Amino acid sequence: MNRRRFLYTAVSSAAMFAGTPRVFGAAAKYDLLIKGGRVIDPSLRLDAVCDVGISEARIAAVETNITAEAVQTVDARGKIVTPGLIDIHTHCARSGEGPGMVLQDGVTGWIDAGSQGADHIADAIAVAKTSPQQGRVLINIGRAGVVSDGDTMDINRADVGALRDAIARNRDFIVGIKARLSRDVAGSNDYEVLRRAQEVATSFNLPVMIHMGQTVSPLPRLMSLLKSGDVVTHMFAPPPNSIVDDSGKIEPAVMAARQRGVWFDVGNGQNGHIRWDTVEMIVKARFWPDTFSTDWNTNSRQTGVIDLPNCMSKLLGYGMTVPDAVARATVNASRIFPVFKDRGTLKVGAPADIAVLELREGNFEFLDNYKGTITGRQRLFPFATVLAGKRVTRT
Ligand SMILES: [Zn+2]
Repeated sequence: MNRRRFLYTAVSSAAMFAGTPRVFGAAAKYDLLIKGGRVIDPSLRLDAVCDVGISEARIAAVETNITAEAVQTVDARGKIVTPGLIDIHTHCARSGEGPGMVLQDGVTGWIDAGSQGADHIADAIAVAKTSPQQGRVLINIGRAGVVSDGDTMDINRADVGALRDAIARNRDFIVGIKARLSRDVAGSNDYEVLRRAQEVATSFNLPVMIHMGQTVSPLPRLMSLLKSGDVVTHMFAPPPNSIVDDSGKIEPAVMAARQRGVWFDVGNGQNGHIRWDTVEMIVKARFWPDTFSTDWNTNSRQTGVIDLPNCMSKLLGYGMTVPDAVARATVNASRIFPVFKDRGTLKVGAPADIAVLELREGNFEFLDNYKGTITGRQRLFPFATVLAGKRVTRT
């Protein structure tokens, strides 16, 4: 029984005992009220200053100037209020501390992208199971997970049998397969690794996320193996085998993949995944990402990643609007994995997962993975997180 219902029950039985109807202090209408923020919810095409009322862990009202009483109020004047952020490429499941750390950044849903393979998938799932917010994992096709000598440099590590067994045992927590395909991860096995990943993914009706960039095989050859619903992460990876050619044209195989429903994700990370000159060519060709993601690790705050709001700010200087950036960390991300299907929105009735962000103006340096910097005029900072209707305490 939740607290409000308990309150109502207590009031009515007290009134019954008293024998006469009595009005006790009116119960607050909302458990939590977020007042006066600029509410940006691309799922509702909403960008306006208004209030968000929450009761029983769900969004109860999104209206201008709600005057009803609330148990707790968050003053969001001057802030941006969005659906809770969803980060589809993290390594949150490497450490029990991970989920709580990203929750502070406004991330109310995360995917661990292939930290573990079949051999140690139980470790990653244990973190997902105890995560305060929704967390799920992609299983690495390499049975030993991410390893320094290359996940699938030995093709025997792309063990279809072990992969199948691990997925079959953990359908609730494994939501896809990760195939890391760079030269130093898969060598010349890249195509065969992806073929095996796809064979298993298809039989379970799951997506594959590929880690692209600096592959041995040409990108079009790898793209040809991707189906609708699959995800290409590290889309801003510089050559060789970037998604854009030297003349600034997006590879036709990449255009065709997007056409048939393959998603393109940023996957900021730390090494080899993003270089400003490549970013510039790709956004000039108007090939915007579908989702932002951090490729987060517990050390991210000390790197160019920092947090998801920082990664969301990196394209503002290239002409992306704030609502478009929000869409890529909320509603778009919610469409990729069914576990998030009722998230990424402030629709009345939706679970009350909310990020309150601060958009600061100034000069902000954004780092790529090659020590390159650009200066932006705006940057989003996390301010407060609400998870299942409760404000998260910041540590
Ligand atoms: Zn990663």
